[in-house]
Amino acid sequence: MTDGQMLLAAFVLLYLIECLRLVPSTAWMAVGSSTSGWSTLRPWLRLQIGSGSPLLLSPLPPMQAHALALPWLLVPEPEALRVRLTDSMSALVPWDQLALRAEETMLYLDATNRVRLPTKALAELWQQRLTEWHALTPDQRRSAFLKHARTTLDTQTASQNAAATAALTRSLRRCATLHFMWCFGVMSALYHRFGDSLAVLAAAGVLLLLQFIQSWLFLRATRNSALKIPHRRWRALGIAFLPQLAMRAFDVVNLTTAAEPPHPLAWHGLLDEKHWLQHARQFWREARYVPGWSHNETLPVEAEALQKFFRHAGIAEADYDPPSTAQLPACPRCGAEYQSGITTCSDCGGVELRNPAASL
Ligand SMILES: [Zn+2]
Repeated sequence: MTDGQMLLAAFVLLYLIECLRLVPSTAWMAVGSSTSGWSTLRPWLRLQIGSGSPLLLSPLPPMQAHALALPWLLVPEPEALRVRLTDSMSALVPWDQLALRAEETMLYLDATNRVRLPTKALAELWQQRLTEWHALTPDQRRSAFLKHARTTLDTQTASQNAAATAALTRSLRRCATLHFMWCFGVMSALYHRFGDSLAVLAAAGVLLLLQFIQSWLFLRATRNSALKIPHRRWRALGIAFLPQLAMRAFDVVNLTTAAEPPHPLAWHGLLDEKHWLQHARQFWREARYVPGWSHNETLPVEAEALQKFFRHAGIAEADYDPPSTAQLPACPRCGAEYQSGITTCSDCGGVELRNPAASL
């Protein structure tokens, strides 16, 4: 490897590190812009670091805006607080054992359970909210949760916020695309052709100029006092001199927010309808088909919140809970089919199976 190749490899590595974020394992990320449409990214769930998982923000140009969403991590059930740890794992913390403590972005619930939130402000907000819920009766907790669910499922606000965040970083992202192409395309081609020469030095000068522009654009996009970027001026200085920070400056603007993140299903209208419906079915199955579903009289509180939301959005039940086409008893939660005679799904912790339609 020549010196130039080493330098390029180091730049690529630094750039990719800058694209990595540690997010709650349950988080969802929307990536896109008003022109290209939006899709979703999920963290890499196999790796768990302090209740979080790494997520690689979309690294290649044209640079896209990002917005974060979180499913309901803390759900009040009559006897205990349900804590969603990952997509497939949750824990129950009995109400009388709740010992709340927020430390940075981590919220400790009792001696063993903790949950990571995207920001420190949100960890503190949840500490306060759970303290309030703790003092309520089960019915009051249920309605407090339904109110919270309604707020986080506000599709209009979620779409508007994603669009606004993309608009705020439009020039930063355009400049980052140019910067990326210049750094990894033009400069490496020039170095390959001319080696250590005046041409490469001049190209490096252009790179530095682009970083100064990024730094100025960053300061301009963040001068609004509602956006509290920690160490804003120091960061602007870093952007001016470090290419990897300059290229990803828009992420800092997009992902620094004090607002409570929406539920992923609030991106109805933002995401492609087909994909959104897949996510809707998944969330519905997990909320609705819990052990005891076939004989419980009331819906679990999460399912009730989702049902209200679907009705309000005009989504037919056959769309979010399509009838089973299985010939054998099947688990309504994971879809696994079983031989006749078995009544519960062992993979889903004893969810009762649904018998095939009576016409068969
Ligand atoms: Zn199952």
